[in-house]
Amino acid sequence: MTTSYATLETFFSRYSDLPKEAILKTDLLRQGIAWTRAALAISAKAKPKSYFIFSFDRKTQSELTPEERRAAPEELALTGGPWEFKRTIVSQRMNPDSPYVVDVRDGEQLGLRCGNDWLCDVTLPKRPSYYDENLATGKPVTDIAPTLEWGYLIYLTAFRLCQYWGKEEECQFCDINNNYRQQKAEGRSYTGVKSIDEVLAAMEIINRLDTDRVSTAYTVTGGSITTKLDGMNEGEFYARYADAIESQFPGRWIGKAVVQALPIDEVKALKTAGYTIYHPNYEVWDEQLFNQLSPGKARYVGRDEWINRIIDAAEIFSPQHVIPNFVAGIEMSQPHGFTDIEAAIKSTQEGLDFFMSHGVCPRFTVWCVEPNTVLHSTNPEPPSLDYYCRLLQVYRDTHKRYDLPVPPGYGSPGVGQAVFSVSAFMDVLG
Ligand code: SF4
Repeated sequence: MTTSYATLETFFSRYSDLPKEAILKTDLLRQGIAWTRAALAISAKAKPKSYFIFSFDRKTQSELTPEERRAAPEELALTGGPWEFKRTIVSQRMNPDSPYVVDVRDGEQLGLRCGNDWLCDVTLPKRPSYYDENLATGKPVTDIAPTLEWGYLIYLTAFRLCQYWGKEEECQFCDINNNYRQQKAEGRSYTGVKSIDEVLAAMEIINRLDTDRVSTAYTVTGGSITTKLDGMNEGEFYARYADAIESQFPGRWIGKAVVQALPIDEVKALKTAGYTIYHPNYEVWDEQLFNQLSPGKARYVGRDEWINRIIDAAEIFSPQHVIPNFVAGIEMSQPHGFTDIEAAIKSTQEGLDFFMSHGVCPRFTVWCVEPNTVLHSTNPEPPSLDYYCRLLQVYRDTHKRYDLPVPPGYGSPGVGQAVFSVSAFMDVLG
């Protein structure tokens, strides 16, 4: 279906129980956003896209213009327009072929249009003062500690590669290793393994210059460690970062670890180090799809063990503080995934029921079909917007049915408040 103002209105009425903002946000994440040169000239002064872990673009760097590579913002805020949108934060995913275009209206004001129809105003994140600082080593803060979610979250990808290597092991939807290569080829400062000293130096700069204390949480993450890295297993490697940060800045931020579903002793090490929240992502619920789409995890850990470890981790962190992510949409990826929307939703619902009945609340990101991934060749287009709208309904309703609290570490929920930018799960809660 061609995207237009009229088709958007159709979705708004078909899913009238969902906020219009959440529907458009989801479609922007599905399809990506194009920019005019004039709009990019304005965006060049804003907070730039940092490529914080994956590319999260629908095109490779070589398919983008220099301005698209360097001047695109990390996120944008949608407001106003014919539907009087409340502020809605969306992550920027570059796609020059998208039907959604950010363009200049009236002088310096940016707006989002689809064809010739203006949909809403666009505001860009201000470039924070700490983005103009370099570490003593000369590396920019944007490499070591970029901030997302409108400044709420400091994103520390400590290890920009994954030891699941090649088509037989890498998750089929993930471009972490290829993205690392393309960002290095682009000439970006893009540190493969961040030292503790570099991270502490960047955190010191942010702590000093973020005088309004907008930054509230930090995430430490990176690729999986299947053997050893610097002589350490995965739990030991990632635990050191919280240990150092909490020693130097006790309680300043909420610490989150996005790592594998680890054996219990490594989970304990993460907790002892000072992390508050543990994200052992399960990616997709269906067992066969987990094995096909995350073959490395299936081979090294196994799907049942992965799920058991998530539940076991709740004993260490408390159920509320275990928040596994799934990549929404990969259950409909071809050639292995569901072809029927309701069958895919039923499977995802089963996973939500399982975790939420244990008090563990998953969250999700909208799958970005990145070109440097295995799934791209058989999935040139993302799953339908109908699928994502059904998912938002099911997620919201299941969360309500289990009477769970809003997941901590994401700021305030609800339209006009949510800052989580890679899916609308927080926009539909509260
Ligand atoms: S475990 Fe999978 S999703 Fe995570 S970084 Fe490695 S390949 Fe990517």
